[in-house]
Amino acid sequence: MVLRVTALSKSYGDVAAVDRISFHVRRNEIVGLLGPNGAGKTTTINMILGVLEPSGGSIEIQGLNLARRRRQALARTNFAAVYSPLPGNLTVYQNLRVFGLIYGISDAARRIEALLEEFDLQRFRNVRCGVLSSGEQTRASLAKAMLNNPDLLLLDEPTASLDPSTAREVRRKIRAVATHGKGGALWTSHNMYEVEDVCHRVLFLSRGRILLEGDPKTLPREHGKENLEELFITVAREPLSLEER
Ligand code: ATP
Repeated sequence: MVLRVTALSKSYGDVAAVDRISFHVRRNEIVGLLGPNGAGKTTTINMILGVLEPSGGSIEIQGLNLARRRRQALARTNFAAVYSPLPGNLTVYQNLRVFGLIYGISDAARRIEALLEEFDLQRFRNVRCGVLSSGEQTRASLAKAMLNNPDLLLLDEPTASLDPSTAREVRRKIRAVATHGKGGALWTSHNMYEVEDVCHRVLFLSRGRILLEGDPKTLPREHGKENLEELFITVAREPLSLEER
């Protein structure tokens, strides 16, 4: 199991942002974490990244408990998120070099060249990240996320700022990384077409709880909806109508 989350909670005062959720990501599986604004997706991801302390529950990455074996667990993880851009005053190459040092990548120079090539960043290698277009920045962030060959990729809306053709290419790359070797991914997106295309399984989060779980291709019909978008809208507007089923 790449990721196992058990009874994970996070409260802010009286507000339960994440309320005893349990789920897993299997090897070579891409799991979509869906839910309306404020459902608790980013809070969940930040706890798995070790940047936010849970109020309760546990997280295991490749069998390593995050609270007890933090360094080993996080060495197997990486992430990309639009709200966490690379430092803008460093060039693409300098950023990859610095993160390569932080992650302790052996043979970093060769790894960086391969990633510049793979994410079509060669011509931006000496350009400061702050002046790149949002799509170019996303590609640089994804290259950074692949530096340590992570087993667990956490992706918070990785294609949000990409044009359709680049988004398709990026999905293909992420799929290739996440569905080979020991890897797996947890993916958040508000693009239901993309989720259906990429994710093997989805979890619908609403008010900090997992309301539904299943195959994005069959789940809508199981709940009498035409497609994932309609199901999403129902989850967002009338979560109780689904809980009663
Ligand atoms: P979005 O799709 O809008 O990014 P999300 O599902 O990622 O939403 P979170 O950012 O995880 O949602 O927020 C979950 C809930 O926790 C929200 O109601 C938010 O207001 C609340 N929350 C998050 N961080 C804090 C904080 N530091 N203090 C108080 N409340 C917080």
